[in-house]
Amino acid sequence: MTKTAPAPASAAPSGGDLNQLMARLDLGKLAELSGKIDLPGLLNAAAGMNDSQLRQLSKALGVGADKPKKRELPAPDGDFFGLMDTLTDEQREVAGQVQGFMHQHVAPIMNEYWNRDEFPRQIIDGLKPLNLLRKVWNEDGTRKPDATVMEGIITLEACKVDVSTAVFFGVHAGLAFASIALGGSPEQKAEWLPKMLDLDVIGAFGLTEPEGGSQVSQGLHTTCQRDGDGWILNGQKKWIGNSTFSDITVVWARDVESGEVRGFIVRAGTPGYSVEKIQGKTALRIVENGLVTLSGCRVAEADRLQAVQGWRTTADVLRLTRAGVAWQGVGCAMGAYEAALKYAQTRVQFGKRIGEFQLIQNHLVHMLGNVTSMFTMCLRLSEMADHGVMKDEHAALAKVFTAARCRETVAFARETLGGNGILLENGVAKHFADTEAIYSYEGTNEINTLVVGRAITGLSAFV
Ligand SMILES: Cc1cc2nc3c(=O)[nH]c(=O)nc-3n(C[C@H](O)[C@H](O)[C@H](O)COP(=O)(O)OP(=O)(O)OC[C@H]3O[C@@H](n4cnc5c(N)ncnc54)[C@H](O)[C@@H]3O)c2cc1C
Repeated sequence: MTKTAPAPASAAPSGGDLNQLMARLDLGKLAELSGKIDLPGLLNAAAGMNDSQLRQLSKALGVGADKPKKRELPAPDGDFFGLMDTLTDEQREVAGQVQGFMHQHVAPIMNEYWNRDEFPRQIIDGLKPLNLLRKVWNEDGTRKPDATVMEGIITLEACKVDVSTAVFFGVHAGLAFASIALGGSPEQKAEWLPKMLDLDVIGAFGLTEPEGGSQVSQGLHTTCQRDGDGWILNGQKKWIGNSTFSDITVVWARDVESGEVRGFIVRAGTPGYSVEKIQGKTALRIVENGLVTLSGCRVAEADRLQAVQGWRTTADVLRLTRAGVAWQGVGCAMGAYEAALKYAQTRVQFGKRIGEFQLIQNHLVHMLGNVTSMFTMCLRLSEMADHGVMKDEHAALAKVFTAARCRETVAFARETLGGNGILLENGVAKHFADTEAIYSYEGTNEINTLVVGRAITGLSAFV
């Protein structure tokens, strides 16, 4: 139904508006007023007023002021195009379980743990009954037909509340699990994967080094050297999520003899393996990242990932997980958008809810446009991955696009809350900070841009 445009100020009064005004006048109050003002004169004047003047008169007389109209406002919902409706029943059910878990177990404690710079390990037991890894992976390390969409939806729901929880899960269920699933022998898979599926063994993934971030594919500084029935590992790994409490860390190292990249399962407590927690982060403070030092660390040949084929396997693992990082941007932005909208519907300034201001509506609509395009892109990306047609450049474009749009969205959300936007308790500040990590890991903006640039031009900017 189209709305009627408001009448210009010079237009004649509509009988309807005058009648409405009269119908809403309280006769008792009218009697009171008649002693104070020239009531007949006022009514005469009212008959000649246009709609806008009548509205002002209503306001001056306080008509309807005692009974403000209560209109139900729409609940914030970042899924504007109903993309969740396109999912399977199982995917929607899992989304609901993750949402319930996050609200019940994580939301009440996350700000405290953010301040403590610590991961709440007790949530691992709470996560176990959800059996989330088995929605993505089979026992033998192969993936379910809709694994990437399912991972995406899990990530989205977790990130709406807390990105760190999704990162804990992504490092364990994505990077570490995939390394063994793709690089392990049948015996290694049988030993580790069931325990990892049950969250009885927690994994970490050690690739990045203090001197080797983006350029890590060009050569690792961490070395491995064959020594009888084992290997000696030396070097350092930086930023390793979960490593402060993980049971195993997958460590990637360069064979000093052949120059080949090899992967190892390093068990916590192995002599020569130590972890120092990285302090003072301003993003993802709930994730515990470690600086791992390998100093003459001896690992049995049985714990070398037997099916690793050099860097190719490492790249395969990263390709599997990059879509998940793009989804982190969607969830983070959606959580911030919904919190900002809720705030705009209730915060009153200049006698109005700030959501009534056009500039604030502009922020909200911009955010929603971002979230909708990010969500749509990631859903399609994951479908492509599940159909085996996703290439590196597809995942790279999604990562570049979502990280940038997420950064813009959380900034608008922060701005919408004014000063309250920097307080953890209002549900935007954590998203605002966490976006900075999303922006830089799993391939920085620049590196992913160059991957896409190489694909579309056929020309490589890499050395
Ligand atoms: C919170 C967090 C968690 C992480 N978790 C893990 C983990 O669990 N395991 C793990 O192995 N790693 C992890 N990482 C590491 C992450 O993957 C790296 O930070 C990332 O690869 C970027 O490397 P860098 O930080 O050393 O940046 P650098 O590579 O030093 O880059 C610095 C800047 O230079 C730019 N740049 C570099 N090369 C080029 C080029 N050729 N052209 C144009 N620009 C260029 C980059 O884009 C960036 O802007 C994590 C990082 C963070 C922040």
